[in-house]
Amino acid sequence: MFYIGNHLSASKGYAAMGEQAVKLGGNVFAFFTRNPRGGKAKEISKADVENFLGIAHEHSFGTLVAHAPYTMNLCAEKDSVRAFSREMFADDMKRMEYTPHSYYNFHPGSHVGQGAEAGIERIAEALNDILTEEQTTTVLLETMAGKGSEIGRNFEELKEIIDRVERKEKLGVCFDTCHVWDAGYDIVNDLDGVLAKFDHVLGLERLCAVHFNDSMNGLGSHKDRHQKIGQGAIGMEAMKRVALHPALAGKPFILETPNEDEGYAKEIAMIKEWTKEL
Ligand code: FE
Ligand code: FE
Ligand code: ZN
Repeated sequence: MFYIGNHLSASKGYAAMGEQAVKLGGNVFAFFTRNPRGGKAKEISKADVENFLGIAHEHSFGTLVAHAPYTMNLCAEKDSVRAFSREMFADDMKRMEYTPHSYYNFHPGSHVGQGAEAGIERIAEALNDILTEEQTTTVLLETMAGKGSEIGRNFEELKEIIDRVERKEKLGVCFDTCHVWDAGYDIVNDLDGVLAKFDHVLGLERLCAVHFNDSMNGLGSHKDRHQKIGQGAIGMEAMKRVALHPALAGKPFILETPNEDEGYAKEIAMIKEWTKEL
């Protein structure tokens, strides 16, 4: 089974997202738990979640990949920003339990001048305070492009965070193809080598989800500008090899490409065609 979908708007609730995913041809999706720029989250309706779970079951959906707001920065220099980020994170952990056993992906953070080491410490400290034994959600650290002072610019930085967290069993990694390429991992000429490196540093069992994006920029550019599948520097053939790689089989693939509904439906159809034998 191949799971493919895109980021959907959560404004109309869970069932509406499920219906929209099916309409676009997908069988999984991602959504922001609250306004991507941060702020107050919408009340969750149990009836809406029930309806959604019915749709998900009927269409054999893959694991949902929720996304934390971009304003979240667990290693911000300002105490108030760190406190607000932790509050949003902890609140999101409660909200995620409405759809048990889902993924919650977040950008580890930007250290803005404090240094990567200090940033890594702060992120791990926050995770140690927030993660609970009871939660069924797996929290995913996203591989980052290394723009500015982003933590997670390489696999080793993610490993350093995970090493410091007690409840490691609650952690995974989301592999963003645009980001790893921009970070300098050559998935065009050496996908096997990159995945072997991931396995060596983090362990492939940590790789839970894929953000499936082409990139507007070259290898190691540290830019983080997503492009439509096949229209960027990674290109169609390399993207196809990622989709078909056995190490990534069964993972949810989430499109974060610059598209409207029509473009997403086209990309989903194309990728389903590539992967129909899986
Ligand atoms: Fe992201
Ligand atoms: Fe991403
Ligand atoms: Zn990105």
